[in-house]
Amino acid sequence: MSSVRKLMASVSSPLSMKHGGLSLWRPQSRIHQPSRSFVVASSSSFANENREFVIVGGGNAAGYAARTFVEHGMADGKLCIVSKEAYAPYERPALTKAYLFPPDKKPARLPGFHTCVGSGGERQTPEWYKQQGIEMLYKDPVTGIDMEKQTLTTNSGKLLKYGSLIVATGCTASRFPEKIGGNLPGVHYIRDVADADSLISSLEKARKVVVVGGGYIGMEVAAAAVGWKLDTTVIFPEEHLLQRLFTPSLAQKYEELYKENGVNFLMGVSIKNLEAGSDGHVAAVKLEYGSTVEADTIIIGIGAKPAVGPFHTVGLNTTAGGIQVDGQFRTGVPGIFAIGDVAAFPLKMYDRISRVEHVDHARRSAQHCVKSLLTAQTHTYDYLPHFYSRVFEYEGSPRKVWWQFYGDNVGEVVEIGSFDPKIATFWIESGKLKGVLLESGSPEEFQLLPKLARSQPVIDKVKLQNASSVEEALQIAQTSLQV
Ligand SMILES: Cc1cc2nc3c(=O)[nH]c(=O)nc-3n(C[C@H](O)[C@H](O)[C@H](O)COP(=O)(O)OP(=O)(O)OC[C@H]3O[C@@H](n4cnc5c(N)ncnc54)[C@H](O)[C@@H]3O)c2cc1C
Repeated sequence: MSSVRKLMASVSSPLSMKHGGLSLWRPQSRIHQPSRSFVVASSSSFANENREFVIVGGGNAAGYAARTFVEHGMADGKLCIVSKEAYAPYERPALTKAYLFPPDKKPARLPGFHTCVGSGGERQTPEWYKQQGIEMLYKDPVTGIDMEKQTLTTNSGKLLKYGSLIVATGCTASRFPEKIGGNLPGVHYIRDVADADSLISSLEKARKVVVVGGGYIGMEVAAAAVGWKLDTTVIFPEEHLLQRLFTPSLAQKYEELYKENGVNFLMGVSIKNLEAGSDGHVAAVKLEYGSTVEADTIIIGIGAKPAVGPFHTVGLNTTAGGIQVDGQFRTGVPGIFAIGDVAAFPLKMYDRISRVEHVDHARRSAQHCVKSLLTAQTHTYDYLPHFYSRVFEYEGSPRKVWWQFYGDNVGEVVEIGSFDPKIATFWIESGKLKGVLLESGSPEEFQLLPKLARSQPVIDKVKLQNASSVEEALQIAQTSLQV
């Protein structure tokens, strides 16, 4: 199975889901009609009786959704965002990148990276939401929903009436169980600003850091920790870094770069438990095979789970892992939508249902959903999988690395370049180019990747293998687009 499939937490199920012989996709109006489902609240518990659209979750997708509401003139006095966090939506990927720069290397802080700066858009500060007439409820997670009455309850006891509801609750970090030390002081998970701040206060006094997990989070946090000049060890059970995407050969080149930067690796190693010292603070990692690794700060990056609560209890289909939606992000319940990490949607290109935990999808799904809700847009979402990471970017770093991947990592692999400074990996199946990863490309070269992955051109594998440089390989791939 394609590793990208695993990476996207996909499930193989038909696009048109049937249940008891009935389609779960009930026909819905394509143009939003407030009178259809919106009932003006009569109770005095509603501060704003025009809460026509409510977004639950104030993360990446919510920020881009808000912008789309504003662009359509449908935010002012109509839109409410209910957020668990204390901050207006921000570009979450920054938390393991510039947010963790060493203190003397100008780390990023809010309000610098509020959405939508990550895609070159306006920086939507809390004042921006006020100016747009968008009601923001901070630090008040939604804890319940009554679909008959179209109301939400929040942790503080607020009752919110909604006309249309967009669920954008993202994911929560997977944790080590408490019984093996997963909640010890000094053990960190990183999902939001509060988590990142807590990690930074540990790094300020850390001596020995252990990063658990060899995926994106692990790679980014390990690169950050050596930037702080801390003794850093990465431990994971797989054979190499980012096993779900990288080939062994590509992973080896990154591992060497990390080692040159001072990172130690324990690969193919499982953890038995985390141990506390006499002060109750984490002190060591005990490995399955018996030995221990000292650590005063541990960051666990072992994946994330869709935050479906409290919506899984009220008839939304969550059998696919997240909340299942159609190509316009409609759930099976009229007037309720789901976007971003929490949505399990039809990945049209590859004819499967997928969940994608990446910011590019959070942004695009938000825009597509809101346009479908507010306009006559009828076309289905047609997402091209795209993953990226950037590490060692702080000022003075010996080498900044930035890779991007588009498509599906299936079939045979052709690798071109020595990683000094560039490398490209091409995945070819049945003679067609299916996926491509490029490290340290130019902006023009990165722009070519989605065209290649989208078109899946027939490509001459032998010619590609004989390319003497990444530039030549990309030229061969580009030419194949014109055939
Ligand atoms: C540290 C980190 C680094 C990342 N790096 C990259 C990267 O380099 N590249 C990339 O493509 N992707 C990256 N991602 C993934 C990317 O950030 C997510 O795909 C994206 O944030 C998803 O947007 P979202 O709005 O669906 O969820 P989120 O941005 O997670 O927002 C969900 C929000 O909903 C809130 N919430 C949850 N439940 C409730 C509730 N019941 N009531 C109210 N609010 C609730 C949460 O607190 C959160 O604020 C990274 C993620 C993390 C955590």
